[in-house]
Amino acid sequence: MAITDKIYVKNHQQLASQLETSIPKGAFKGATLDILFQGEGLEKLDDATRDRVLDFAQDFLDCDCDNNPYCGCPERKFMRYLLELRAQGLGPDAIVDVMSDDYMLYAYPGDVLSFLDDAVRTLEAAEGLARVDGASEKHEEIRRVKRDLAK
Ligand SMILES: [Zn+2]
Repeated sequence: MAITDKIYVKNHQQLASQLETSIPKGAFKGATLDILFQGEGLEKLDDATRDRVLDFAQDFLDCDCDNNPYCGCPERKFMRYLLELRAQGLGPDAIVDVMSDDYMLYAYPGDVLSFLDDAVRTLEAAEGLARVDGASEKHEEIRRVKRDLAK
């Protein structure tokens, strides 16, 4: 399961009752994305909640793909967001705090940790390939990203 399958809407019940509809708990579930993407009923949310929901839509659902929000961009962007927080030196617990402040989302720190570990391993594999290819610029870049993530 991808990390984005383990990102949840905080106060999910409260959000659903404000929207007067039921939404899945998973932030990246189709029905949740639909509501965010179409923006239907968002005027019923209290200000603080609406701001965060709109920030999420703006930051992750803003691509021009025809099949938006099912194009995979939201998930990719969210993973990049997690990696950027890690590169800023945040650990899993702090990352969960930040996503909660930014977007009213939460995840289990253990899941975030596994995701970060996997990302570092994927980069290691890519680094090995780049070395074999003799693509030294690519190799340097991957090493730099990895160093940022591992600090
Ligand atoms: Zn897209």
